[in-house]
Amino acid sequence: MGDPFDVIVIGSGPGGYVAAIRAAQLGLKTACVEKEKTLGGTCLNVGCIPSKCLLQSSEMYAQYLHEGKTHGIEGNPTLNFPQMMKRKESVIAGFNTGIGALFKKNKVTSITGTATFKDPHTITVEGKEYSSKNFIIATGSEPTPLPFLPFDEKKVLSSTGALALKEVPKKMIVIGAGIIGVELGSVYSRLGTEVHFVEFLDKICPTLDSAISKALQETLTKQGLTFQLSSKVTDAKIDPSGVTLTIEGGKTLTAEKVLVAIGRRPYTQNLALENLQITPDKRGFIPIDNNFRTTHPHIYAIGDLVDGPMLAHKASEEGYAVAELISGLSPKIEYIAIPSVVYTHPEVGAVGLTEAEAKALNLPIKTSQFPFKANSRARCSGDDFGFVKLIADKNTDTLLGVHIIAPHAGELIAEATLAIQTKTTAKALAHTCHAHPTLSEALKEAALALISKPIHL
Ligand SMILES: Cc1cc2nc3c(=O)[nH]c(=O)nc-3n(C[C@H](O)[C@H](O)[C@H](O)COP(=O)(O)OP(=O)(O)OC[C@H]3O[C@@H](n4cnc5c(N)ncnc54)[C@H](O)[C@@H]3O)c2cc1C
Repeated sequence: MGDPFDVIVIGSGPGGYVAAIRAAQLGLKTACVEKEKTLGGTCLNVGCIPSKCLLQSSEMYAQYLHEGKTHGIEGNPTLNFPQMMKRKESVIAGFNTGIGALFKKNKVTSITGTATFKDPHTITVEGKEYSSKNFIIATGSEPTPLPFLPFDEKKVLSSTGALALKEVPKKMIVIGAGIIGVELGSVYSRLGTEVHFVEFLDKICPTLDSAISKALQETLTKQGLTFQLSSKVTDAKIDPSGVTLTIEGGKTLTAEKVLVAIGRRPYTQNLALENLQITPDKRGFIPIDNNFRTTHPHIYAIGDLVDGPMLAHKASEEGYAVAELISGLSPKIEYIAIPSVVYTHPEVGAVGLTEAEAKALNLPIKTSQFPFKANSRARCSGDDFGFVKLIADKNTDTLLGVHIIAPHAGELIAEATLAIQTKTTAKALAHTCHAHPTLSEALKEAALALISKPIHL
């Protein structure tokens, strides 16, 4: 065993690698352990990045196929699915190398292998021991299977399997119409798969504001995706032709592929938490205090492994913050200002409280909506489905929530995130000049609607 590190980070996902780089930037002797051959975690290898690559490629294909003629572009595009997958792989590979280069540049020691705690100050990786003054556990999460339908990644797919198919299936049932489900369902639907959702709850993407969730379902239905809400899958049978699901009440559904997208669960396997006397809570999350500390003050946990939204940027914020805390700084994360994006078409961007959440808190609120049908840029693009919904405090005018369904909503939400983070008023947003013609003008108009009247409606 060599000299102890100041910080060992376990896991190189967006939580872990950001923590490691920031710790090294602050002068701490830092190592990052990753069990997989490539760096970047779920987000880079089997999550955000591959899904966004396929969403982009499939959207280009579908747009050209269905709307080319209107724009004066003739001829049918031909789908080369293996090339689409190859492109995705090369984007991932570029970033894998990129994180390695950032580690080198910042002098982070990269250790490959599975980390297991021997005691609160020592881990073993591939038979070697490493000690450290501090540990940051950032081992992320994994897809949750249905107890009666384990993943085989052939017919019963997790998101990982759905991102690596060899052929476009004819029919796919997606169990769970959450964000990952609707994104991957959209990819295959655009490529010609008949995609049917079975969702236990009575709305899709249940964390979204209800008005947005309803509009998203409406537009996805128009695109050909079908939804069966308030339905519970109770059993499944696999045979050579596919998978037959039984829905509560006895009805059955059959498809060549089933994507189980019912959520993700924290991943703590192989850490030997028992050697630390750390017990995950009943959902599997590692309990921490307000400073990411476990029951050991020098062992921290961040990202998908701890309570909160399972999002890459949330994990990265926590990674950055925990490195600063260890260095003696006092970072603060505004959890209310963590945006959430659904990369369907149109996209959804949301930050702050939903109307239901604000009402549950008994906050005095006022709301406004502005449609993209009245936005000139959206009309130029021929892509004007959607609206901005604002929620503000009735008395102080402070913005409490911003919800957008529109093309590029994932980009539009950045302005709103700054507004929520800095507790901006609707008046300030309404009186901020927005370039014309841009989609962002809809935010200004929605703010004008909140304080007085919009101009273009
Ligand atoms: C299909 C899909 C799409 C997604 N899209 C988005 C999106 O668009 N935007 C977004 O914000 N989020 C998205 N997410 C969620 C996002 O990927 C996660 O929130 C994020 O990756 C969590 O980061 P993390 O650092 O906590 O953990 P992870 O990224 O899960 O990284 C954990 C790492 O720890 C390693 N590890 C585990 N145990 C050990 C051990 N004992 N020793 C060494 N290494 C270990 C793992 O191999 C892994 O590399 C998506 C997820 C999926 C599945």
